Amino acid sequence: MGWKIALIALVAVLLLAPVAGAQDADYVIFVSVDGMRADLLLDLVNNDSVGDFDTFRRLIDEGATTFNARTDYTHTVTIPNHVSMATARPVLQPEGQPDNVHHGYTNNGDPGADETLHNSGNPNVDYVASVFDVAHDHGLSTAMYASKSKFIIFDQSYDEDHGAADLILPDDGPDKIDTYVYMETGSPSNASNLHAVVMSDLAGNPARYNFVHYRDPDSAGHAGGWGSEVWNNSIRAVNDYLGDILDLIDSDITFQGRTTVIVTADHGGSGSGHGTATDPFNYTIPFLVWGAGVEAGTDLYALNATSRQDPGGGRPDYNETLQPIRHGALDLLGLPPVSGSIINGGQELVVRLPPSPVVEVPRRSTTLALYPNPANPATSIDFTLSESGYVRLAVYTVSGRRVRTLADGQFPAGGHSVQFRDPALASGVYLVRLEALGISSGEKLLILK
Ligand SMILES: [Zn+2]
Repeated sequence: MGWKIALIALVAVLLLAPVAGAQDADYVIFVSVDGMRADLLLDLVNNDSVGDFDTFRRLIDEGATTFNARTDYTHTVTIPNHVSMATARPVLQPEGQPDNVHHGYTNNGDPGADETLHNSGNPNVDYVASVFDVAHDHGLSTAMYASKSKFIIFDQSYDEDHGAADLILPDDGPDKIDTYVYMETGSPSNASNLHAVVMSDLAGNPARYNFVHYRDPDSAGHAGGWGSEVWNNSIRAVNDYLGDILDLIDSDITFQGRTTVIVTADHGGSGSGHGTATDPFNYTIPFLVWGAGVEAGTDLYALNATSRQDPGGGRPDYNETLQPIRHGALDLLGLPPVSGSIINGGQELVVRLPPSPVVEVPRRSTTLALYPNPANPATSIDFTLSESGYVRLAVYTVSGRRVRTLADGQFPAGGHSVQFRDPALASGVYLVRLEALGISSGEKLLILK
């Protein structure tokens, strides 16, 4: 009987939680350019008299952009930062926050054959979900193109043996990355041959979500220094890679008006390195969004003034209420956030202007109430939202371990109620936590049996 009530509650929650909002793009091409420092890139584009950086110029003129996005707080190296991009988790535990929000994967070398993000990162997280889980579980094909061998950690973590079960019907299986390609060539090592594979795959059998890694500026920076002529040449090469991608989108009806391109970086660099996470030249990165649904010539911080804050020259940690722009933007595909992620809440990034002048901006607010409490034996968890948005409602032990997720999805504005009863939970004090509209609130729940 108790189980039946719990099941009915669960079904109610699932019915209330449809998948995401408006879908802007059918294809996303997420490009991470290794070591592409923001201010040097902007200087090259602004002083370009011969068109060497014409694609970057186009991304700025036709896209929503900032040259003041941020890397992870503690790390400015390739793999830990790419794991943050893919999982929307900090590398290390943010001070004062629970011990299960960071991914904890700090190996920036080639992984061992048995190493995964799940068994070699944060021991308090059994499975580190990623953008590949979300896209793949929602039925989208996925691809990763990497120009450093150590990216194999992604393929190992999300393969047939280590990927999580797909609980969203239809079942697309545990292998979350349909196509994984690693290739590097030349000296300094570059992605020119990998880029040829990217182009032939896009032209022939494109994945819906593409994660592309171009290593050229990182190799050039280590070889000749950031801002050196060899580094500038690597940016010329990347400009041409991106030009090929935009040309294909322009000319192929598969992509025209249906594709969003994001161009960002894992870190910058200064001198011939980038390991110091407190160095502004290392932590300041570009974030350029272009394509379907994107308002031309706009500034990402201006478009996202209520949810993000331009950090100026600063280096905000993960406790700042308004975060800088970091990492991905899953909602461009109409997809919900990565499970377990805290960075930028729902990864919601506004890339277009509001339809009309905003007359009144109501303050976002939520409420949370439990009744009866102690649970007797069921309890009603009531919450209200001042506007629609993503809701994550979960039950935690007092030590911060999540034991039940009651809601994880989009909810309309207004009042909602979830009946909660779980005979499998031992008597004791639990914490019910509501995360919605960028606000986190919690209530203690006493379960007596
Ligand atoms: Zn490097």
